[in-house]
Amino acid sequence: MSNSITRKKAADARQEQIAAKNPQFEPEEGPPRFIADVMLGRLARWLRIAGFDVLYSNSFSDDELIDVSCRERRILLSRDTRLLIRRTVRSFIYIESQDVLEQVRQVFKAVNVGSLDSLLTRCLSCNEALLAIPRESVRKAVPEYVYRTQKSFKSCPTCGRVFWAGTHRASVVRILEDLLASRC
Ligand SMILES: [Zn+2]
Repeated sequence: MSNSITRKKAADARQEQIAAKNPQFEPEEGPPRFIADVMLGRLARWLRIAGFDVLYSNSFSDDELIDVSCRERRILLSRDTRLLIRRTVRSFIYIESQDVLEQVRQVFKAVNVGSLDSLLTRCLSCNEALLAIPRESVRKAVPEYVYRTQKSFKSCPTCGRVFWAGTHRASVVRILEDLLASRC
């Protein structure tokens, strides 16, 4: 019992220290870029759907996360107070909720996302920006029905997967737009 109280106190103290760090995001050209810690794979995926550049690997060590965040000027996303309390961590968002859509809403608010201009422009597996490709070039790569009904296709330069406006696009877009509208 006393151990758990001590742990809770220590965690509260870390949260206060993290809040006191009051991270400032240096203005950059273009949209903010992120690196997500190993616990935040689902958040990384949602942010990629929204078009953001988010590095994620389930094997990043704490040192790698901090190093890449500093070197590439990426905002570190984490729920780990022991990581964020470290002196070398400067540009970060302490993710508060365990609910992934709440997490997305918090990020949108923290970096002041105004509109979703880059929805579905990034490979969800590789994080690469998708490139438009000629429709004829995917004739053999996609199902016949998709080829007949879709006008434009994109592909990932890294994994080669072909993307088109799929059936769940509308619901995904609606969820993100609702989050954006309610971020204040
Ligand atoms: Zn890819």
